[in-house]
Amino acid sequence: MDKKIVVFGTGQFGRKAVEYLRVLGISDKVIFCETNVKEKRIGKIPVVSLLELISGYADIGIVLIAIKDKKESERLRSYFSSVFIDRIPVIEISDFIRDNYGKLENDGDSHYCNLCNSYLDEFQPGSIAGDIELFKKHHIVGAGYRRNMYCPACKGDDRSRWVLYCLSNYTDIFSSHCNVLHFAPEDNISQRIQSNSYCDYYSGDILIERAMHKIDITNIQFKDGFFDYIILNHVMEHIVNESEAVREIIRVLKPSGTIIMSFPICLDMVTQEDENVISDNDRLQLYGQVDHVRLYGNDFLTRFKNYGLSIEVYSPTNFMADQDIEKYGFIKDDMLLMCRKVI
Ligand SMILES: [Zn+2]
Repeated sequence: MDKKIVVFGTGQFGRKAVEYLRVLGISDKVIFCETNVKEKRIGKIPVVSLLELISGYADIGIVLIAIKDKKESERLRSYFSSVFIDRIPVIEISDFIRDNYGKLENDGDSHYCNLCNSYLDEFQPGSIAGDIELFKKHHIVGAGYRRNMYCPACKGDDRSRWVLYCLSNYTDIFSSHCNVLHFAPEDNISQRIQSNSYCDYYSGDILIERAMHKIDITNIQFKDGFFDYIILNHVMEHIVNESEAVREIIRVLKPSGTIIMSFPICLDMVTQEDENVISDNDRLQLYGQVDHVRLYGNDFLTRFKNYGLSIEVYSPTNFMADQDIEKYGFIKDDMLLMCRKVI
């Protein structure tokens, strides 16, 4: 059995230690330990209490103490050494972290990925569709080049970070008893939702290898009014029969349920959609991606309200200062739609 690397401390120093182990490619063996456990998981990494660690230490390969307070760090090292009687190496790494991460004492201008809880010097730029005319002429929210797109630690993207932020701050999906249907699931968000043990979680995709269930969104195999939350990020722009899809997700949604939805939006024009546009190149030039069947425009709200939904739009720029948007690596004018049935 693989021995675990225990990082004691879930604060800045502990998280920096994990960042370093991630660079070495061994972060999958890490577990966090903390005196008082507040969250059972940080990103993908389990958090155990001191007591749990001591009572089940057979799998432990090494303990790395990564906390800011030097006296406490030394006390813990003595404590662990006496408990493990030198059978397991116990190393204080706080000085190492302090020496190697100059910005650590003051993270005011550093970046933070909420998907993996990493403090970062910077995000990485990226672009999915490349350098096409459409992106030069028009600003499309959630598409084209973005300076703060990828997290260097978990490879999660800016859109997923905003979705997670909204789910955490504006829904009770991580704490309530709820049935969730998640289309085209993003791994990091899916895992976070499944860590809510009260949640009945179903993921779906037209391709079974991408999710737990093969689901055709225009013909969903669940009963009426079953789900509290239905999540579909960057799904609708791929669906030819939009009206059937929306009717189906409304059908399987509870009367009190919420649909959480996003897609690329171009506010410079109305929705672009032409059933005669079917070649990869034409779709790329007109919609921005070869497998998109439309590009939503400034009529998107009316379009979805007409299906019987009330909609609230969540944009980072309406909720936080520019410096925080930069820190979290969100798209400033990103738009996440929270939709409810009009009853
Ligand atoms: Zn990340």
